[in-house]
Amino acid sequence: MEQLKAAIRDIPDFPKPGVGFKDITPLLADPATFKLAIDLFKERHAGNQIDMVVGIEARGFIFASALAYALGAGTCLVRKPGKLPHAVHQQTYELEYGTDTVEIHSDAFKPGQRILIIDDVLATGGTVAATIDLISTNFDVEIVESDFLMELGFLNGRARLGSNPIHALLTY
Ligand code: AMP
Repeated sequence: MEQLKAAIRDIPDFPKPGVGFKDITPLLADPATFKLAIDLFKERHAGNQIDMVVGIEARGFIFASALAYALGAGTCLVRKPGKLPHAVHQQTYELEYGTDTVEIHSDAFKPGQRILIIDDVLATGGTVAATIDLISTNFDVEIVESDFLMELGFLNGRARLGSNPIHALLTY
């Protein structure tokens, strides 16, 4: 875990004052560290019969695609509005100021599939909570877990996720 942590860069006041941004580009750039992150997720889910790994825009896509390949699963995209070309389902959620929306293709899953959601950072939990709602409202599938490279524990995103299983490789 120290190897992962050492490859994550803190950028103060990005994208706005007061936010400590966790920059994962050094981790992605280092072959051994990126491989370690994917291997840790893979080991966790090797026996879980995951059918689809869902990546949340945008850095979630990077982990979702590599992990889907490693697990022999498919991957699918949860995106910001207006980005997906086919018919979509959508879910709107509250931000500190205003709202945001996530979308998924309406034919993303087959009934009964086992789903793993993945993103780089669990912060307030709003994005993943909306993604879980989006999937569980519109599809007859099983969400096995939502996984993150890191959890910003001081923002208490877990509290927003109720009994939905969550796992993070690192906690700050
Ligand atoms: P939230 O909905 O608050 O849990 O925010 C999660 C999304 O915002 C994730 O997709 C992250 O990529 C991004 N994010 C939130 N806070 C940070 C941060 N401090 N550093 C990097 N990414 C962040």
